[in-house]
Amino acid sequence: MSPTAPLILVIEDEPGIRRFLRVTLDSHGYRTTEASCAQDGLKRAALERPDLVVLDLGLPDRDGMDVLRDLREWSSVPLIVLTAREAEGSKVDALDAGADDYLTKPFGAAELLARIRVALRHALKAGAPQDPVFITGDLRVDLAARVVTVAGREVHLTPIEFRLLATLVKHAGKVLTHRQLLNAGWGPEYGFEAHYLRVYMAQLRRKIEATPAQPRYLRTEPGVGYRLVAEP
Ligand code: CA
Repeated sequence: MSPTAPLILVIEDEPGIRRFLRVTLDSHGYRTTEASCAQDGLKRAALERPDLVVLDLGLPDRDGMDVLRDLREWSSVPLIVLTAREAEGSKVDALDAGADDYLTKPFGAAELLARIRVALRHALKAGAPQDPVFITGDLRVDLAARVVTVAGREVHLTPIEFRLLATLVKHAGKVLTHRQLLNAGWGPEYGFEAHYLRVYMAQLRRKIEATPAQPRYLRTEPGVGYRLVAEP
């Protein structure tokens, strides 16, 4: 294992899931370090300075949300939370509290690795100037010129539609919550008007998707928000 390979801290109390994560990450060139409770996890995050944290929200000693908030007081390390399927609301809270993404148990290796790639890539680019042109499949978004094309044809967006798309582009591959998108499109005072967002996202899909009912780019994350697919 290369000493420069990204180090991933796994904070998870279930030994079976820890083992799955360790085996999957080791075999894909990542280094791993593990904690089975919140206290040890926070200690390792401070001492070992991982490049990414995978945090289970259901820990024996403290709520994973507390761990996330503690960590965010001093660290912007990319962080992916693991949630149980029945804990629907908690992933929205975690994303709004600064988690980069989430995985719902049970999840597969491909999904895990894709999420990790996106989170690490965003962290790498965070300090660098954003590339003004984003391309995925047939969709091309020039953020500087404010020009959107699909298969070479220009698409005309309203200012709100453009703000929503630009926000998704800046976080391509990551899920954005309803609240985060409402803030971007309309401002924080509209944080609870989820129906505005539904209407505008439907309009946006009609403009950029070949088949709006089966979106290729703008995916719905049920109960959470939307994700612009970065690797179609
Ligand atoms: Ca657990």
